[in-house]
Amino acid sequence: MATITIDRISKSFGSVQALKGVSFDAKNGEFVVIVGPSGAGKSTTLNCIAGVEYPEMGTILIDDQDVTLMPPQDRDVAMVFENYALYPQMSVRENLAFPLRSPKYRVDEDEITKRIERVSGLLGIDVLLHRLPRQLSQGQRQRVSLGRALVRDPKVYLFDEPISHLDAKLRNAMRRELKLIRASLSQTTIYVTHDYLEALSLADRVVVLFKGEVLQFDQKEKIYNLPAAMEVGQLFGDPPMMFFEGKADENDSFVSNDRAFSLSNSGISGEVPVGTEVVLGLRPTEVNLVPEGKGQVKGKVYSVQNQFDHQLITIKAQNSLFDVVAAQDVSLSEGDKAWVNIPNEVCYFFNKETHKVIGSK
Ligand code: ADP
Repeated sequence: MATITIDRISKSFGSVQALKGVSFDAKNGEFVVIVGPSGAGKSTTLNCIAGVEYPEMGTILIDDQDVTLMPPQDRDVAMVFENYALYPQMSVRENLAFPLRSPKYRVDEDEITKRIERVSGLLGIDVLLHRLPRQLSQGQRQRVSLGRALVRDPKVYLFDEPISHLDAKLRNAMRRELKLIRASLSQTTIYVTHDYLEALSLADRVVVLFKGEVLQFDQKEKIYNLPAAMEVGQLFGDPPMMFFEGKADENDSFVSNDRAFSLSNSGISGEVPVGTEVVLGLRPTEVNLVPEGKGQVKGKVYSVQNQFDHQLITIKAQNSLFDVVAAQDVSLSEGDKAWVNIPNEVCYFFNKETHKVIGSK
């Protein structure tokens, strides 16, 4: 068990500033997921915790010990990569036992057998222990790779996109299994992914990393319900959050710049002066199509996409496009008139320059 504290770490590669003062922490036994688009600095952060890279500024504490410049082998940290190479000439059992037999760990054979039984049972590979890696499917190899790290029983686990290149079906299955594995791990874990569903399914808390900066570090529910920045709103949600530029106007209203719609009682007036340019964020799952004259937006159906269990209907009003997730029985065709209702409680307002959320909902 361990606590981890990352305090304002920065790291550059030549002219690329990969991390710009990244801070977050993990409590004893907590599962923290770092999520962000490619190039955000996720792997660099993990590598700094593992000791594979050293930050130029800031500190990393494990259990209150400063490990910032400590060599990786002294940190008692196990890192799991997706393409963890297995030894081709060794059976699954030998592959699992190998790290434990190294002079550094010197685990005795009874204990090795016990750990292999526990981990192979957990991963559902107990019937494959005698096989060679080439006799395994991609998904089975993946589990053995995970198993190689899990048998180590370190203070801290670090996972770097362990399932990102599996095909969609296998990924879903592994996501489910990781959730089970996660429940039986008592170690503090930092897990990196670019997949927001993986983050929401596994995390206690989520770090949203973007261009080397932490945009939000919060409970996963808050990341979705109270996004701190436009990028967080866009990253978490499918279809992604839509954005509309406009101004705060008299009587607590918001008026879109293209005059396609205005919202009264928007909640913006207490936050910024009248005339301030703001960006409104809306989720396609939280706005709805309503009968004639009821909604704030009047437009025309621009496109209808059938998605089997729902439809994604896009409404065009002036220059604004509204994606609305609608039930299958809504009958609208391209060119039809349509009205969109925007409930006040689903409006997120952001600063146009900084992209940060305005006020608190
Ligand atoms: P992520 O894991 O979020 O995709 P990375 O941490 O791999 O992001 O990379 C962050 C930034 O740092 C990127 O711009 C990447 O190109 C750069 N970078 C990472 N590692 C190196 C390296 N060894 N040499 C040069 N640039 C690197």
